[in-house]
Amino acid sequence: MAFDIEMIKKVYHNMPGRVDAAREIVGRPLTLTEKILYNHLWDGNPTKAFGRGVDYVDFAPDRVACQDATAQMALLQFMHAGKSKVAVPTTVHCDHLIQAKVDAATDLARAKTQSNEVFDFLSSVSNKYGIGFWKPGAGIIHQVVLENYAFPGGMMIGTDSHTVNAGGLGMVAIGVGGADAVDVMSGMAWELKFPKLIGVKLTGKLSGWTAPKDVILKVAGILTVKGGTGAIVEYFGEGATAMSCTGKGTICNMGAEIGATTSTFGYDDSMSRYLRSTNRADVADAADKIASYLTGDPEVYADPEKYFDQLIEINLSELEPHLNGPFTPDLATPISKMKEEAIKNNWPLQIQVGLIGSCTNSSYEDISRAASLAKQVSEKNLKVKSEFTITPGSEVVRSTIERDGFIDTFHKIGATVFANACGPCIGMWDREGAEKEERNTIVHSFNRNFSKRADGNPNTLAFVGSPELVTALAIAGDLGFNPLTDKLINEDGEEVMLDEPTGDELPEKGFYAEDPGFQAPAEDGSGVQVVVSLTSERLQLLAPFDAWDGKNITGAKLLIKAFGKCTTDHISMAGPWLRFRGHLDNISNNMLIGAVNAFNQKTNSVKNQLTEQYDAVPAVARAYKAAGVPSVVVGDHNYGEGSSREHAAMEPRFLGVKAVLVKSFARIHETNLKKQGLLGLTFANESDYDKIQENDTINFTDLTEFAPGKPLTLEFVHADGSKDIILANHTYNEGQIGWFVAGSALNLIAAGKA
Ligand code: SF4
Repeated sequence: MAFDIEMIKKVYHNMPGRVDAAREIVGRPLTLTEKILYNHLWDGNPTKAFGRGVDYVDFAPDRVACQDATAQMALLQFMHAGKSKVAVPTTVHCDHLIQAKVDAATDLARAKTQSNEVFDFLSSVSNKYGIGFWKPGAGIIHQVVLENYAFPGGMMIGTDSHTVNAGGLGMVAIGVGGADAVDVMSGMAWELKFPKLIGVKLTGKLSGWTAPKDVILKVAGILTVKGGTGAIVEYFGEGATAMSCTGKGTICNMGAEIGATTSTFGYDDSMSRYLRSTNRADVADAADKIASYLTGDPEVYADPEKYFDQLIEINLSELEPHLNGPFTPDLATPISKMKEEAIKNNWPLQIQVGLIGSCTNSSYEDISRAASLAKQVSEKNLKVKSEFTITPGSEVVRSTIERDGFIDTFHKIGATVFANACGPCIGMWDREGAEKEERNTIVHSFNRNFSKRADGNPNTLAFVGSPELVTALAIAGDLGFNPLTDKLINEDGEEVMLDEPTGDELPEKGFYAEDPGFQAPAEDGSGVQVVVSLTSERLQLLAPFDAWDGKNITGAKLLIKAFGKCTTDHISMAGPWLRFRGHLDNISNNMLIGAVNAFNQKTNSVKNQLTEQYDAVPAVARAYKAAGVPSVVVGDHNYGEGSSREHAAMEPRFLGVKAVLVKSFARIHETNLKKQGLLGLTFANESDYDKIQENDTINFTDLTEFAPGKPLTLEFVHADGSKDIILANHTYNEGQIGWFVAGSALNLIAAGKA
């Protein structure tokens, strides 16, 4: 499972020279974020200063991590790149496909039966292409990455939005779509708009009931769910260095909830302690040698307003424990105000379930502090009023807390320990009675609390808090309980108060696991067979998309003129479709089913021009494809906003759509369309959108002259024979035109030309 110390040493070897050069070029002291970014430029040494929030820059990340749900399509695509091995260290983690219901052993066994073919596929592809594979039960991607791979000053991408968790170990770690991961795994550059920088200065010190989680709950309340968009959040100050490394991880983890590109902390003793405790003394030693490069320049932190685009200051000594929710992680309420708010808003006060753990909060420190409260249940003769569950973040954490008696403590208060997996954090919680959709309150230490996120019940009100606060609230069973001031009545009818939580940052006896659940890849994977059943409904090997035939596209039919908002969810829905993420044919049955047809204002109802009948969008697209008729999608503004999922571009490509013509694109989706060999075009005159009619046939007239900066001309032939000539802009550069010509970016990589 070994982390790649040679790779890390190389990063550290380059860092002083590149950072010094960047400081010179930029002409001022540098933040940590800038140091990491300038040390990971695709072109090597910095030669120019980049504009924050302006310039698109090519980077060379050190690592890639994928979780099981997103890895399927990413690896299916990677198999097409024609490489024998991944270009950078990569890992796959089986954590999202395990449903929580009974207990760890039962649930894990059931998941292995239900998703056996997916796990086998991921295991064999990993084995073949040099990818580290973490088996089901090994743990949740971000906890496992923190324990094994994250390192100060590193840069990684991962196919999950909470990849940002690794900022707790001083990384710039960013969540991306599968297509981006495939690029990096194939040895290509990864592009990012140079971010803006938000500084968070932490003064004072955490104590008593307040935990690192409360820092990010407070920040979320300040910045809201959109406040971090396009920015990297850099934490610093005495409060930051006094905090545990895993606590920093929690704060960075929930940076995803404020929309931040990522968050990070400078290298300090807490990180060194964590690295040494997780058997990585050599990384800590290497980091110690260049420590000043692994944090922001002193001048920056002395006068932060000058160097950050936005600055927030939080005094940890005054910070109160918070609960955020319901339904949004930025609705922050200090615990002292919770009762009042709950009554005012008619939130059910009775807590049904308290859930701790997940990738966000299952460190040794979290669990030991929560256990210190659980212990008081018998000591003070209390009765736990709510159900209580624990989701350990990894087998290493689970084995260690079991050895140290915490699991036993939790069992004594009637807790259920779920598998080391996402479970209730991602709606993979088969909660008894959830189907009745009763209004109820739960509290958890996870990160997201959107409607239906935990148990699928839209009427479950979920509040996010620290593991210690969640434990106290589960004991009390009352959302209005403030453990700092309120007393509980014990079984003897006496008033008792819970003592403040206490715990250990790291296990005194070290971390331990008999089998952490890692499968190392074969040294030479050339003989490893990847087996995908032809009859599988969940997995399907991809066939390369056809190359362009060099001719104008003619006789294309309008598939849909989408009206208004059309996000990647409208184009490729999630929910029940998640199970088909590895099967392009099957998941294509959700293509554009959420988009509104501009001609009848209905979803999933478009005219099939061949039959004159209305049918579902995928059905009509398939009919055109079967008849050898190309099709075109027309859309409104910001088409494809939302997630970076590549399915939203692969599905139209697979179902025969040749071009997507819109008023404007969300940038990532536009790039995804280009990568899949589609034409992503924008109206030169937005008002031309209104000229598109339901029975239109479309002819390109100058595609044979496709060139950077040169608009394309499309002829829209209406049912009555009249025509509109429409000019379409595009942003394809030479290389991207090469993708179109080859049929996809991957085809070009496979041909050795990218
Ligand atoms: Fe995502 Fe939750 Fe799993 Fe973490 S535990 S990776 S937040 S689903």
